[in-house]
Amino acid sequence: MPMTSVTMEDQQYTPKALLEYLATRPDKAPVTLEIAKGILEANTPRDYISTTSLTSKCMRAAGLKANTDYTESVEGLWAAWRGTAMHSSLEKAAQGLDGVVPEARFHTDVAKVLGRRKRAPFSGSPDIVDVNKGEINDWKFTREGKAPRYGNPWAEHVEQANLNRWLVDHSTKVEYQGTTWTEVEAFRPMDWTAMRVTYLDDRGATPITITKSIQIPKKDGNGTKAARVTDVWSDQQVEDLIRDRYPVIEDSLSGKNIPAPPPGWEHQSHILCSFCPVRAACAALEAQGK
Ligand code: SF4
Repeated sequence: MPMTSVTMEDQQYTPKALLEYLATRPDKAPVTLEIAKGILEANTPRDYISTTSLTSKCMRAAGLKANTDYTESVEGLWAAWRGTAMHSSLEKAAQGLDGVVPEARFHTDVAKVLGRRKRAPFSGSPDIVDVNKGEINDWKFTREGKAPRYGNPWAEHVEQANLNRWLVDHSTKVEYQGTTWTEVEAFRPMDWTAMRVTYLDDRGATPITITKSIQIPKKDGNGTKAARVTDVWSDQQVEDLIRDRYPVIEDSLSGKNIPAPPPGWEHQSHILCSFCPVRAACAALEAQGK
């Protein structure tokens, strides 16, 4: 079930009624018609399981959103919409750069990975695939000063970049600039050299390459020393993640089995639960021991 109502300044509207109201161009409304339309479109449920769904912090929320009516607030969706708008702007800027493919959507079927016959559609849309250089670049929007300071990007962003890498290599269909391609080789680098997450906040950009620490021989031949090298996961590592999570999100979205709150999120206690539009449904289910 979709988002059936939306609040703005504590008034409740259906999505259609909100757009009709904003079409009258009221003074002092917190958003314009175009922004509200963008916000609603960005929250339209998708009919595929994506790299984003597999790396979401709470798969229970995805299941509850898909299976209960819920209300969002325009004010609460503002930050997410701002990220979407900046993505569109960056996508436009990236078009025409040599070898750079912005915002293509890659599709495949992971039935074989899951060891079953029933179709298992899976898709993802890396922000940038640099086919010439063999790189994936993702943009993430964060509050000022909240980008990771040391080492790697946040764990879910590392997972998403690696799932996207696997997907690019195993895709059977690509949607790009309004065309669907089944000849996908042109979207696939020969080799992967780097994956990077760029955190954007109100002050600027912080690009961080995904790396791991390994031991390399010292120049003088006396033992080894730690060095950081690009971390591109093996197919096996990515496929283990798909086997672990795909059935969980699939059952959650179908309503067959809504997972329990993640450990430490019980009783809606995580900070992100404060912004969750299905918080009431989550609590009601939990009260039934589910
Ligand atoms: S309230 Fe928290 S634990 Fe419950 S579905 Fe929402 S995010 Fe997940």
